[in-house]
Amino acid sequence: MELNGKIALVTGGNRGIGFALCRQLLDQGATVILIARDEGKGIEAADRLAPPAGRLVVYPLDVCDDTAAGQLAGFIAGRFGHLDDLINNAGVALDKFVPSSKLGVEGLRKTLETNVVGVFKITQALMPLLAASGQGRVVNVSSQLGSLSVMGGMLLAYRMSKAALNSMTRVWAAELADSNVLVNSVCPGWVRTALGGEDAPVTPTEGAAAILAMVTIDDDGPTGTFVRDGAVHPW
Ligand code: NAP
Repeated sequence: MELNGKIALVTGGNRGIGFALCRQLLDQGATVILIARDEGKGIEAADRLAPPAGRLVVYPLDVCDDTAAGQLAGFIAGRFGHLDDLINNAGVALDKFVPSSKLGVEGLRKTLETNVVGVFKITQALMPLLAASGQGRVVNVSSQLGSLSVMGGMLLAYRMSKAALNSMTRVWAAELADSNVLVNSVCPGWVRTALGGEDAPVTPTEGAAAILAMVTIDDDGPTGTFVRDGAVHPW
């Protein structure tokens, strides 16, 4: 599907995979709402993107903020009247190399608050605007590490958060089955970012392209799926 003239929102758009995705969405002709929790970092990212006039909006928002999602919805309704693409990309992995026996409750809570509750708040608040699009797409940036089928040890909080995120994908997709909003989870691969680390083999550009592929699916495209490397991945 063409993105020319579409309105796309990316959380965590100031760096890593989200930043690369903002660039690709702009290249495809979309207007991008770049969400950054730190406004200064968002503006800096926008400067680096050097977008065509009027096609990039930086909106400061912490996905853990309880009232921010409603305010964001009001802003988008006033400015654009609808939203075509929501990419829930912002995320944290706070328990890398931490065995479950050493995981602190605060780390678990913060991870779930960001990667799960934050996504829920944004998605719920923006759903009427996505429905108003007529061609709404929601892509939840998930991870193979959240797949129950191939679950390994360590990273309990992160794994739980992505498994829960995948549940959200399935439930929203089921509830929206008769609508024009398609909801999918994508694992971008192991990507060289602050979160993925410098040994990761996949570039942010490649990781973002995997997400873009699900943003651009046609109206008869999949919904309620989990995709990695261009193929359906086991939950
Ligand atoms: P990253 O470079 O660490 O970027 C994370 C982004 O999320 C940053 O923009 C960060 O903002 C933002 N963020 C974190 N907490 C936030 C909050 N409370 N409110 C708003 N924004 C927040 O990580 P990445 O590798 O690009 O990861 C992006 C997504 O891909 C994540 O959901 C991650 O789980 C997923 N993923 C990554 C990999 C990988 O190998 N890298 C693999 C599978 C899935 P600040 O700059 O302000 O911190």
